Amino acid sequence: MPGLEASRGEGMLPPEKKKASLNVRYPVSSLLTYNGSTILHFLLGGTGIILAYGSSWAGYVFGFLYLAFSFSEMYVLMPLTVCPNCVYCRKANSLCVSGLNVISKRIAKEGEAEDFPKRARGLLCSNNLYMAALILPVIALIPALMLNFSYLLLVFFIVIMGLLLVRFFVIFPKIACIHCVAKYRCPQAGAMGVRDK
Ligand code: SF4
Repeated sequence: MPGLEASRGEGMLPPEKKKASLNVRYPVSSLLTYNGSTILHFLLGGTGIILAYGSSWAGYVFGFLYLAFSFSEMYVLMPLTVCPNCVYCRKANSLCVSGLNVISKRIAKEGEAEDFPKRARGLLCSNNLYMAALILPVIALIPALMLNFSYLLLVFFIVIMGLLLVRFFVIFPKIACIHCVAKYRCPQAGAMGVRDK
């Protein structure tokens, strides 16, 4: 965003000292990358769990519960509870990396900026639920691989693990959080160390 860069007085800095630009509107490619990897992660996670434990009805229940939990945490709870406090829900014509600010504006009342860091407070906070949705299939597949190994299950495990690593080492630090207008308040951006970049 040109205005933000100018206000930081970065026009005089050498290229290596320049900070990342902030996206009031993320490009469509970022939205597709973020949501594509998220949806793929959840779908492969749920399918992997069913594949791993599907010999009993409990495997199907576990797999479908995981799918319901992961999708509703990300695409229902987040826009209802976290996004209303985010700066993207207050800025006109904004589009965050997930696009959830657009949904949130339609289904929830605008919140307070001071409440945004609450997303990381408490055992069942949004950040912990989000992390659980990402990590649960990885944890669930490990015992299944040991007890009932198959190459197909191994492929699921490797791909899900890969998606997790790409999210933490590429998507968050290079595509999403580093360019996020909310990074100065967001606990996740603090944890990723992108605030000063
Ligand atoms: S800093 Fe990262 S986690 Fe926080 S709101 Fe922005 S994109 Fe989401």
